[in-house]
Amino acid sequence: AKDEGRNRFHYFTASMQRYAKHRMRLIQDLRHAIVNNEFELFYQPIVSLQQESKLKAEALIRWRHPKRGLVSPIEFITVAEETGLIIEIGNWVFQQAARQSALWRDRFGVEVQISINKSPVQFRDEGESFESWAALLKTLNLSNNNICIEITEGLLLDGNSAISSKLAQYRQSGIQVSLDDFGTGYSSLAYLKKFEIDYLKIDQSFTRNLDSNSDDFTLCEAIIVMAHKLGMKVIAEGVETDYQRKVLSDAGCDYGQGYLFSRPVPVEEFEQAFLYTTNK
Ligand code: C2E
Ligand code: CA
Ligand code: CA
Ligand code: CA
Repeated sequence: AKDEGRNRFHYFTASMQRYAKHRMRLIQDLRHAIVNNEFELFYQPIVSLQQESKLKAEALIRWRHPKRGLVSPIEFITVAEETGLIIEIGNWVFQQAARQSALWRDRFGVEVQISINKSPVQFRDEGESFESWAALLKTLNLSNNNICIEITEGLLLDGNSAISSKLAQYRQSGIQVSLDDFGTGYSSLAYLKKFEIDYLKIDQSFTRNLDSNSDDFTLCEAIIVMAHKLGMKVIAEGVETDYQRKVLSDAGCDYGQGYLFSRPVPVEEFEQAFLYTTNK
């Protein structure tokens, strides 16, 4: 029995070593990726479910790894957060999205609001480069809600007054704010009033069950009514079926996002599918 314990211990350390090695490699590769410009933004449309037809898009990061091909953010965002690399990556995402929105305005004559995901780690960074963000928006002549920042509930739970003044700063510079993955976190309704938030994004776990589960329908409907009363618009994530789209639209949901409309796609594909046709 003693031997067995020791073997298990060896096995454990071996797998920990493998993990540590994998992690170190990932960190090294991430540093290279920043220097070598290996990141790319994919865009997924956020489609109006009501009369108003303003197109929005969420920018989702992808990593074109020279050996591994396209790497999902799920594989590297956490490590980027733990190492602080997310600060630089996040700045790149913002700059890229802002330039893209200006480019679309200039080339297609449409204002497409682009949402970017902002990690709590970026908010907690002391040297947060808000001034340079605001300056870039000015340079590009973007002030008209061209950029939206998606935050998660955990951030608000910090209860930090610095967070609320940062959000106010954004809104003064014409940046809107979305609360992402709504309903999956700690969901205190109190902070919805306390913080100025423009959009609630209903998490895809609710949308997914709309077909079969009437409790989730009631929940979605209640969230929509409440959000509207608090002056927010609602975006449903993970819309995959026509039925879900219809149910949400009937319930007054403002926007939908999901595979029904499109997967996140590279920029050229997004232009082909959604921008060339808008003007005609
Ligand atoms: P998220 O912000 O909740 O983004 C939505 C995710 O759901 C995306 O996964 C998207 O591809 C996926 N999705 C969209 N429609 C559907 C649908 O109809 N069905 C299903 N099953 N999935 C759908 P993705 O692109 O893999 O991104 C995963 C997460 O990585 C994001 O979740 C976000 O938390 C994070 N992320 C992505 N880009 C960035 C970034 O630039 N910065 C930061 N900090 N995080 C990012
Ligand atoms: Ca998001
Ligand atoms: Ca989400
Ligand atoms: Ca998420």
